[in-house]
Amino acid sequence: MGPLRWIAGILLGAWSLLKGMGVTIREFFSRDVTQQYPNERWRVADRFRGRVDLPLDPVSGSHKCTLCMLCVRACPNGSLEIVAGKGTDGRTRVLEKYIYKLGTCTLCELCVEACNFDAIRMNHDYELSTYDRQSLTLVLNEPARSAGPGAAGRP
Ligand code: SF4
Ligand code: SF4
Repeated sequence: MGPLRWIAGILLGAWSLLKGMGVTIREFFSRDVTQQYPNERWRVADRFRGRVDLPLDPVSGSHKCTLCMLCVRACPNGSLEIVAGKGTDGRTRVLEKYIYKLGTCTLCELCVEACNFDAIRMNHDYELSTYDRQSLTLVLNEPARSAGPGAAGRP
């Protein structure tokens, strides 16, 4: 090996060392991207699709669902089921159970788009995994419990 190639090798090595150190120093001072889960959580985008939710109307304090069944018909895989009951007058139909099967839901949002009353929405819940398949069937108008027999409720 001639002296010129030897010097060129040293210069190339020094250059690659400086380049690597530059990356290290730049990353050292840049903002952290690692999250300390579960103490830190994502702030998801407004249009993020978590799961289907049946929120309470802040004005009336009740659900806006009119039992029109458009969402049930719009769902391509039968993930929604509505059980209607009788009101106190014995004639009007009232929402007894709004059953949502998260296990088969593809989060396509077609049901939300079909609803003319803004009664349902996709919420921002992304921590949906569970060991209990029955707890994936939810009664959305009774958020404290799931529809599965004996299953513990999900929030
Ligand atoms: S489309 Fe809306 S109003 Fe009609 S049954 Fe579904 S959630 Fe209720
Ligand atoms: S998001 Fe799609 S798959 Fe899920 S319940 Fe609605 S229509 Fe059905």
